[in-house]
Formats: sequence, C-alpha cells, structure tokens
Amino acid sequence: MGQAKLRGNRDQRVALVKERAEAMRPENLVCGSCQAEVHEFQSMDVRQIDGMEAAYAGICPQCKDAVWAFRGDPDVIASFVETLSEKVGGGTLGAQTKGGMPAALPDK
Ligand SMILES: [Zn+2]
Repeated sequence: MGQAKLRGNRDQRVALVKERAEAMRPENLVCGSCQAEVHEFQSMDVRQIDGMEAAYAGICPQCKDAVWAFRGDPDVIASFVETLSEKVGGGTLGAQTKGGMPAALPDK
C-alpha cells in the first residue's frame, strides 16, 4: 500500500543523499599540524547546520591530531570551527583546499 511506496521513496532519497555525499568526499585530508595526508576519515552529519554541506573528521596517522575538513558557507564554517575547537579543546583543525574544499582556518 501507500506505506511501502513511502518507504521506497525515502530509501531512494537516502541513497541519493549518500551518493552525493560520497561524490563530494575528498580523497584525503591534510593534517594541520604536520601536513601529512589523512586517508581514513569519516563524514559527519551536518544536515542540521544551515549553510554547511559536508564535514569530515579523521585522525592524523603521524601526529594523532584530529583533522577536520568542511564544505559550505565560509561564515558558517568559521563559526562552526570556533564552536568545535571549544568543544574539542586542543585538536588542530586541518584545512582542505584541494578540489574546491574551502580552507577551514586561515594560515597561522
Ligand atoms: Zn599530523
């Protein structure tokens, strides 16, 4: 009945969103501390944040720092990074510039 159809549509939507998220996903992040490439990282759920398209988080294999990358409105990213660094309290926030990913932080 209608329910099955509804579920089918939602599954399709979820699949589409996942597909798009995968398409946006960068191949690697760059550690903000030691510039090492980080190949293993996770997508973060940022759908509830207006202006944020995607966020990725990983751990640097060399210095074990937290590495983040964001895609979306630069202003939104800036305030999100501020909140995040308060929460995380110490981890270095990396920036991703390859492939159109905006830098999350200005150079020190
Ligand atoms: Zn590192």
